[in-house]
Amino acid sequence: MESHPLYCDVSLPVPLDQVFTYLLPETLRHRVRTGSRVLAPFGARKLAGVVLRTHGERPTTAPRELLRLLDEDPALDDELLKLGSWISSYYCAPLGEVLRAMTPLAADIRRGKIFSLTKSGRDAARQLHLNESNAEDPATEILQMLDVRALSSTYLARKVQKAAVVLRSLEKKGFVEVEDVAAERDPLRASAARLRAEFVRRPALEKLAKAERELLSYLELHPGSHNVGELEESVLKASIAARALARKGLIKLTLEAVAASQFPFRAPHRLNPHQQAAYVRIEEALDAKQFQTFLLQGVTGSGKTEIYLKAIDTALAMGNGALMLVPEIGLTPAVAGQFHHRFGDRVAILHSGIQDSERAQEWRRIRSGDAKVVVATRSGVFAPVQNLGLIIVDEEHDQSYKQQETPRYHARDVAIVRARDRGAVVVLGSATPSLESRYNADRGKYQLLHLPERVESRPMPKVEVIDTRQEFLETRKQATFSRALITAVAARLDNGEQSMLLLNRRGFSSFMTCRACGERLECPNCSVTLTFHRRDRRMLCHYCNFSSRVPERCPKCDSDHIQFLGLGSERVEDELHGAFPRARIARIDRDTTGGKRDYEAILAKFRAGEYDILVGTQMIAKGHDIPNVTLVGIVSADTGLGLPDFRAAERTFQLLTQAAGRAGRGTTPGIVLMQTINPDHYAIRFAAEQDYEKFYAKELEFRRLMHYPPFAALANVIVRGAREEEALARSAALGRLLNPAGEGVKILGPAAASLARLKNEYRYQMLIKTSSRKRLNEIVSQVRGFAAAEKWNPTALMIDVDPMTIL
Ligand code: ADP
Ligand code: ZN
Ligand code: ZN
Repeated sequence: MESHPLYCDVSLPVPLDQVFTYLLPETLRHRVRTGSRVLAPFGARKLAGVVLRTHGERPTTAPRELLRLLDEDPALDDELLKLGSWISSYYCAPLGEVLRAMTPLAADIRRGKIFSLTKSGRDAARQLHLNESNAEDPATEILQMLDVRALSSTYLARKVQKAAVVLRSLEKKGFVEVEDVAAERDPLRASAARLRAEFVRRPALEKLAKAERELLSYLELHPGSHNVGELEESVLKASIAARALARKGLIKLTLEAVAASQFPFRAPHRLNPHQQAAYVRIEEALDAKQFQTFLLQGVTGSGKTEIYLKAIDTALAMGNGALMLVPEIGLTPAVAGQFHHRFGDRVAILHSGIQDSERAQEWRRIRSGDAKVVVATRSGVFAPVQNLGLIIVDEEHDQSYKQQETPRYHARDVAIVRARDRGAVVVLGSATPSLESRYNADRGKYQLLHLPERVESRPMPKVEVIDTRQEFLETRKQATFSRALITAVAARLDNGEQSMLLLNRRGFSSFMTCRACGERLECPNCSVTLTFHRRDRRMLCHYCNFSSRVPERCPKCDSDHIQFLGLGSERVEDELHGAFPRARIARIDRDTTGGKRDYEAILAKFRAGEYDILVGTQMIAKGHDIPNVTLVGIVSADTGLGLPDFRAAERTFQLLTQAAGRAGRGTTPGIVLMQTINPDHYAIRFAAEQDYEKFYAKELEFRRLMHYPPFAALANVIVRGAREEEALARSAALGRLLNPAGEGVKILGPAAASLARLKNEYRYQMLIKTSSRKRLNEIVSQVRGFAAAEKWNPTALMIDVDPMTIL
């Protein structure tokens, strides 16, 4: 008789570098395998972990028994487990936390409620603060915690005694509001274009509004489910009525998987000679079945997507699977639609907006081999694509590929490691490659493929730089829009063409200062100024969501000479309405777009020509292909340049070039107007010239001189603490530990981080630069070991290997 193992070693999502051995219950012995996800008791908690090994070696202390097997087939195969251990060691993150990030979350573990303060709750918290009332009282404690940010029920339950009871009473008093995490994907909140409605029953007694009656009759007469967006055409106010009817249970609303049908089918283009030349190189590599990384550097509008599609076709024809990664904001329904048209139900789409259960289902389709093409955002790099032969990383320079919490991996780099282990082909695409990738191409690590022109010889947009200092000298007015920009927008309105206006800042005005004493209104939890949001008439912190009333007098000197400086997207929109009262204007930023769907809805309307002008933050700069946009105005090209971050110039250059690339993608040529007070800065000058090569050469020189990537391996170490002395003492201890640093190592700090306070925590920072990757890894491991030996709590130390930002 075959004998089954008695024990298994499990990696759990805890900040410890250690596996835990459990006893396998009789019923699970033949079912649990390496890579299986299991539920295990851990202290008083139950945690989902991944089995690394099953065996018969009895541990010295009696092991606890495993509770449950979470899915029938192992969630991670050997290939992904190996990738996980690479991530764990490269990014210095606990394996258990890495493996958790790699597996789709099961809906049954990720349940919970999010609590936040209502307006009266906020006032109550302020009042408590003023009265310095007793912080021991659980209600006070909760109010004060929620005043900083919204928190989950599980978190509060851990921190505060009897949290559940207290929360219930606070809710009754109207001080807190609850949001079910699951409710976030409530169909009732989705945009009409993504909803399908179906008749359920006639009302018994309820009175219905006119629109509701009409819609219900329509649905009764036309059985089956209908797209609500399309219903709008035949039934007035269908979208509002549909939601109302659904609440009454008279119709059923479901989410449409992907609204592919909305987008016109586009036959594949015949590749032009540049595209063909690039494609052939990729095809050869696919044929050779050998690991190879290409950097496809093609100007905006050069037709990179068509090459991706063709390469995927080829991979499929060879019996391989393909994975395409796109930035968070790049995965629009238009992109999804294109893939559906081309590959039908062989495509799986994964993004952060889909439900856990939906994600788990897609995961199964991918693992079974039914879905051979996967289009996904960052975490999709772990999708269990079978026979993976090709990985594409579109807009490889994009920051959203870097995860900003543990494990702080970079999906592009993980993709390359995954492909290397499998012998797969990687294509990194961008008009503005990251310095690292381009440098790797120069050194022959990657193969460089160039697309120097736009398709069909469409001209590159013409960029004009407007020096706003000069404008001020000439007009003596501090205007948001230069005369040239006003004239250009007006011309677009006359011609029925569209404009996009980019501003890299939310809010109405960026901050408030006192002209008498110079005081700036800052967030009490973070060392940043508060931003004025006119719509809510509040001052907000963009880091911790702290908000306060707009003061009428200076809190420091009581003067009423208060002024607002800077410029936000809300203000730009406002001034536009003043300048062009008849224009139809939409705004996209994190304030107007609660979720991905609002964003998509606004964008779809803009695409359909329902707006003349779109105002937005960097969200609008990426990837959109809207032919009727012939003007892109950059209201202030300088935002971001002043940040104390070695990537400030690179990021500015990329943003400006990408934004400029939105203009003139149709047949009408486009122009770009860039307003700036730094017309001579190289990032702005070369973005205006759309000259990547010149920018790259200049920036590379700076990096070489300053020993920044790609010339050094870099890690950012941040020590955090609620008390300043503690954070300071700990960072000083790390400083002593690492000094003297030795050959080939440079350590900057410890010093107060540029964001010296964030969400009520003090932050000290150390930058570690080394000439060798191995040395960096050793030093960072030493830091982690020290923190563990000193028993720091896990949140006190944050390590970011290959940081995208060091703020
Ligand atoms: P990129 O991603 O390089 O900025 P896209 O892939 O979005 O560019 O392509 C820009 C536009 O050119 C798209 O509308 C696409 O359909 C079109 N296109 C791509 N290849 C060709 C081609 N060979 N001939 C004509 N049009 C093309
Ligand atoms: Zn003052
Ligand atoms: Zn704050």
